[in-house]
Amino acid sequence: MLNPNLVEIENQNALIEQWQKFGRVEKLSEVQADDRTLPIYGLTLGPDDRSLPTFGIFAGVHGLERVGSHVAINFLTPLLSQLAWDETLQETFRHMRLVAIPIVNPGGMYLNSRSNPRGVDIMRNAPVEAHGDLKPLVSGHRISPRLPWYRGKAGAEMEVETRTLIDFLKREMLPSRFSMALDVHSGFGMRDRLWFPYSRSRENFPYRAQVNRVSELLAGAYPHHVYIVEPQHQSYLLHGDPWDFIFDEHQKNFASDGRIFIPWCLEMGSWSWLKKNPMQLFTRHGIFNPILPHRYRRIMRRHRPLLDFFKQATLNHSVWRDRGNS
Ligand SMILES: [Zn+2]
Repeated sequence: MLNPNLVEIENQNALIEQWQKFGRVEKLSEVQADDRTLPIYGLTLGPDDRSLPTFGIFAGVHGLERVGSHVAINFLTPLLSQLAWDETLQETFRHMRLVAIPIVNPGGMYLNSRSNPRGVDIMRNAPVEAHGDLKPLVSGHRISPRLPWYRGKAGAEMEVETRTLIDFLKREMLPSRFSMALDVHSGFGMRDRLWFPYSRSRENFPYRAQVNRVSELLAGAYPHHVYIVEPQHQSYLLHGDPWDFIFDEHQKNFASDGRIFIPWCLEMGSWSWLKKNPMQLFTRHGIFNPILPHRYRRIMRRHRPLLDFFKQATLNHSVWRDRGNS
């Protein structure tokens, strides 16, 4: 029988096999977890021209949040089936690029831990210092890798997973004239949230007008959608968020000639799954993942339109990005 800790890795392998027929697959790096060596894969689809509009999908930053990788893979795999026969979709990928890392932290996923195999929380590992009303431990700490939310030692190199994510984004997304990334998580709160920067402070995000536009377009395309759109700092502040780091990188080195990069996090509110099935509290990964099959299928269906919307909004950015709010 397949080791249950390897289900997502197997799903990713099946996706990769299909992906190679349409796009490029690259082993970005490898991590060690117990006796296993696990690769981190980067996928790209569309022309080589990196200035084209680019949508990026990322998941599995937190190893426990398996459902995020399922949402990503369940979007990407059917997209390839459709690409085999849908000429409109084929045309789409002559004008835009799609990039993905479906499992950023495969070692953590294999070991059933939020952090990477060295006990570091990838979401708190970038060299970014937050300021404001930080929460003890949760906002990131340097006390011990035995506690969750550990940032790593002061002054240490970034972890392989963090570095891999950042390098991939710098190379595959930041040169684009318009790009949006969606990093899929689960765990916080009752509602599904779409977060945009910053998490390091309550500072205003420079592309707030574009974020508002995306929010309006989403409401227009999917009335009664479930998402709360808000800056991450509305929920809590974080040290070391790699998305803040990458965004700053973009502002420093890429934004001067009008290029726009918007990193989003989809935080699926898994406390509602818990409320409906409190026994999940007693299973190791139950808090962050819907266990009942009908609920699993519902979650897989629920977010497909959102990912498709992000793809289309990225492709058509020139139509809406500079319009005022109306
Ligand atoms: Zn997470």
